[in-house]
Amino acid sequence: SGHVVTMGETMLLLSGRSVGSVRDLDAVGLDTGGAESNVAIGLVRAGVPTTWVGRVGTDPAGERVLADVRRTGVDVVAVLDPDRSTGLMMKERLPDGRTRVTYHRAGSAGSAVRPEDVPDGLVERAGLVHLTGITTALSDSARAAVDAVLARADTACVPVSFDVNHRPKLVDPDTARQRYRAVAERSSVVFASDDEARLVLGRQEQPDDEESLAYDLAAVADGTAVVKLGSRGAVASVDGVLLRRPATPVRVVDPVGAGDAFVAGWLAAVLTGAGPAEALDRAADAGALACTVPGDWQLPDPDAAARPVDGPEVDHTV
Ligand code: ATP
Repeated sequence: SGHVVTMGETMLLLSGRSVGSVRDLDAVGLDTGGAESNVAIGLVRAGVPTTWVGRVGTDPAGERVLADVRRTGVDVVAVLDPDRSTGLMMKERLPDGRTRVTYHRAGSAGSAVRPEDVPDGLVERAGLVHLTGITTALSDSARAAVDAVLARADTACVPVSFDVNHRPKLVDPDTARQRYRAVAERSSVVFASDDEARLVLGRQEQPDDEESLAYDLAAVADGTAVVKLGSRGAVASVDGVLLRRPATPVRVVDPVGAGDAFVAGWLAAVLTGAGPAEALDRAADAGALACTVPGDWQLPDPDAAARPVDGPEVDHTV
C-alpha cells in the first residue's frame, strides 16, 4: 500500500507574533510543531494517507497537539501519558532577522515514546516508514522504539525513509554518528543537510563537494540520498545518478519547516511513481513554499502563493 507510518515527538509551539525575543514579547501564537508530524501533514496534503504515532501528556498542550495534527487529516495514534507533560517549543523572530527555536522537552511525554506505543500490524501494513534522528536522541525508550520499528519494517519488507535531523543539544557527535549510520544502513532513502551528511560520513574536516556527500551517503543507505542545502537547493544521488536542483525563489518569512515539507514532497512524488528529477522538483517547491509562512506546516493563502517573485532574495536561514 502507499500508506506511510511515522513516529516522533510533537510539541506545543509558542510562536512570537511580532519581531522580538520572548523576554520582551507580550503575546505569542499557539501552534503545533514536530518534524515527523510536519512530514505527515505534508504527505496527507499531497494525497498520501499517513499515520503519525506519538505520546503526549494529559494536558491542554497535548489536546491542542492532537487536535491540530488530526485536523489536517493525518491518522493519529497517540498514547496519553498521565505522568509527563507535553513538550514545548518556542519560536522567536529576532530583530536581526534570524528565527530562533528553543525546546523544553527533557522528560516530556513525547520523549518517553516506547516500542509498545506502535500498534501491532501498523508498521507491517505500511508502504513506507519515515523516521528521524531526533527520536534516536530523545530517550532510551524512544531509541528502543526506533529499533523496534526498524526490525518490524525489515521483517515485513517495508522500506524506511530517514531524515537525519541532528539536534546537537540532545546528543554528542560521536554517539550521534553511530546511531544515524545504523538507521541509515537500514533505510532506502536518507535525507540530510550537508553538515549532517559530513557528520554521518565522519568527514567534518574535509571540504567535500555536495555531490560526493550525496553519493557516499547513498552508498550507506540502500541507494538514495538527498542533501538539503537551504537557499542553495538540493543534491540527490539515486542509484549512482546525481541530480542538482537550485532552490525555488520565494520571499522567505520563516525557513523552519522547509526541510520537513521538502521530505514530504519527495516521498509523495516517489510513492506516486515519479522519477528522481520530478521528486526533486516537487521537494524543492514544497520546501520553498514552507518558507513563505510563519508556521512549520501551514500553507500560504493561494493568492499570496500565486504572486510572482522578482529581484534578489534575502537569506534568512538561522
Ligand atoms: P529545517 O530543519 O529548518 O526545516 P533543513 O535543514 O532540514 O531545514 P533546508 O535545507 O533548510 O532543510 O530546506 C529544505 C529545502 O527547502 C532546501 O533544500 C530547499 O529546496 C528549500 N529551501 C530552504 N530554504 C529555502 C529558501 N530560502 N528559498 C527557497 N527554498 C528554500
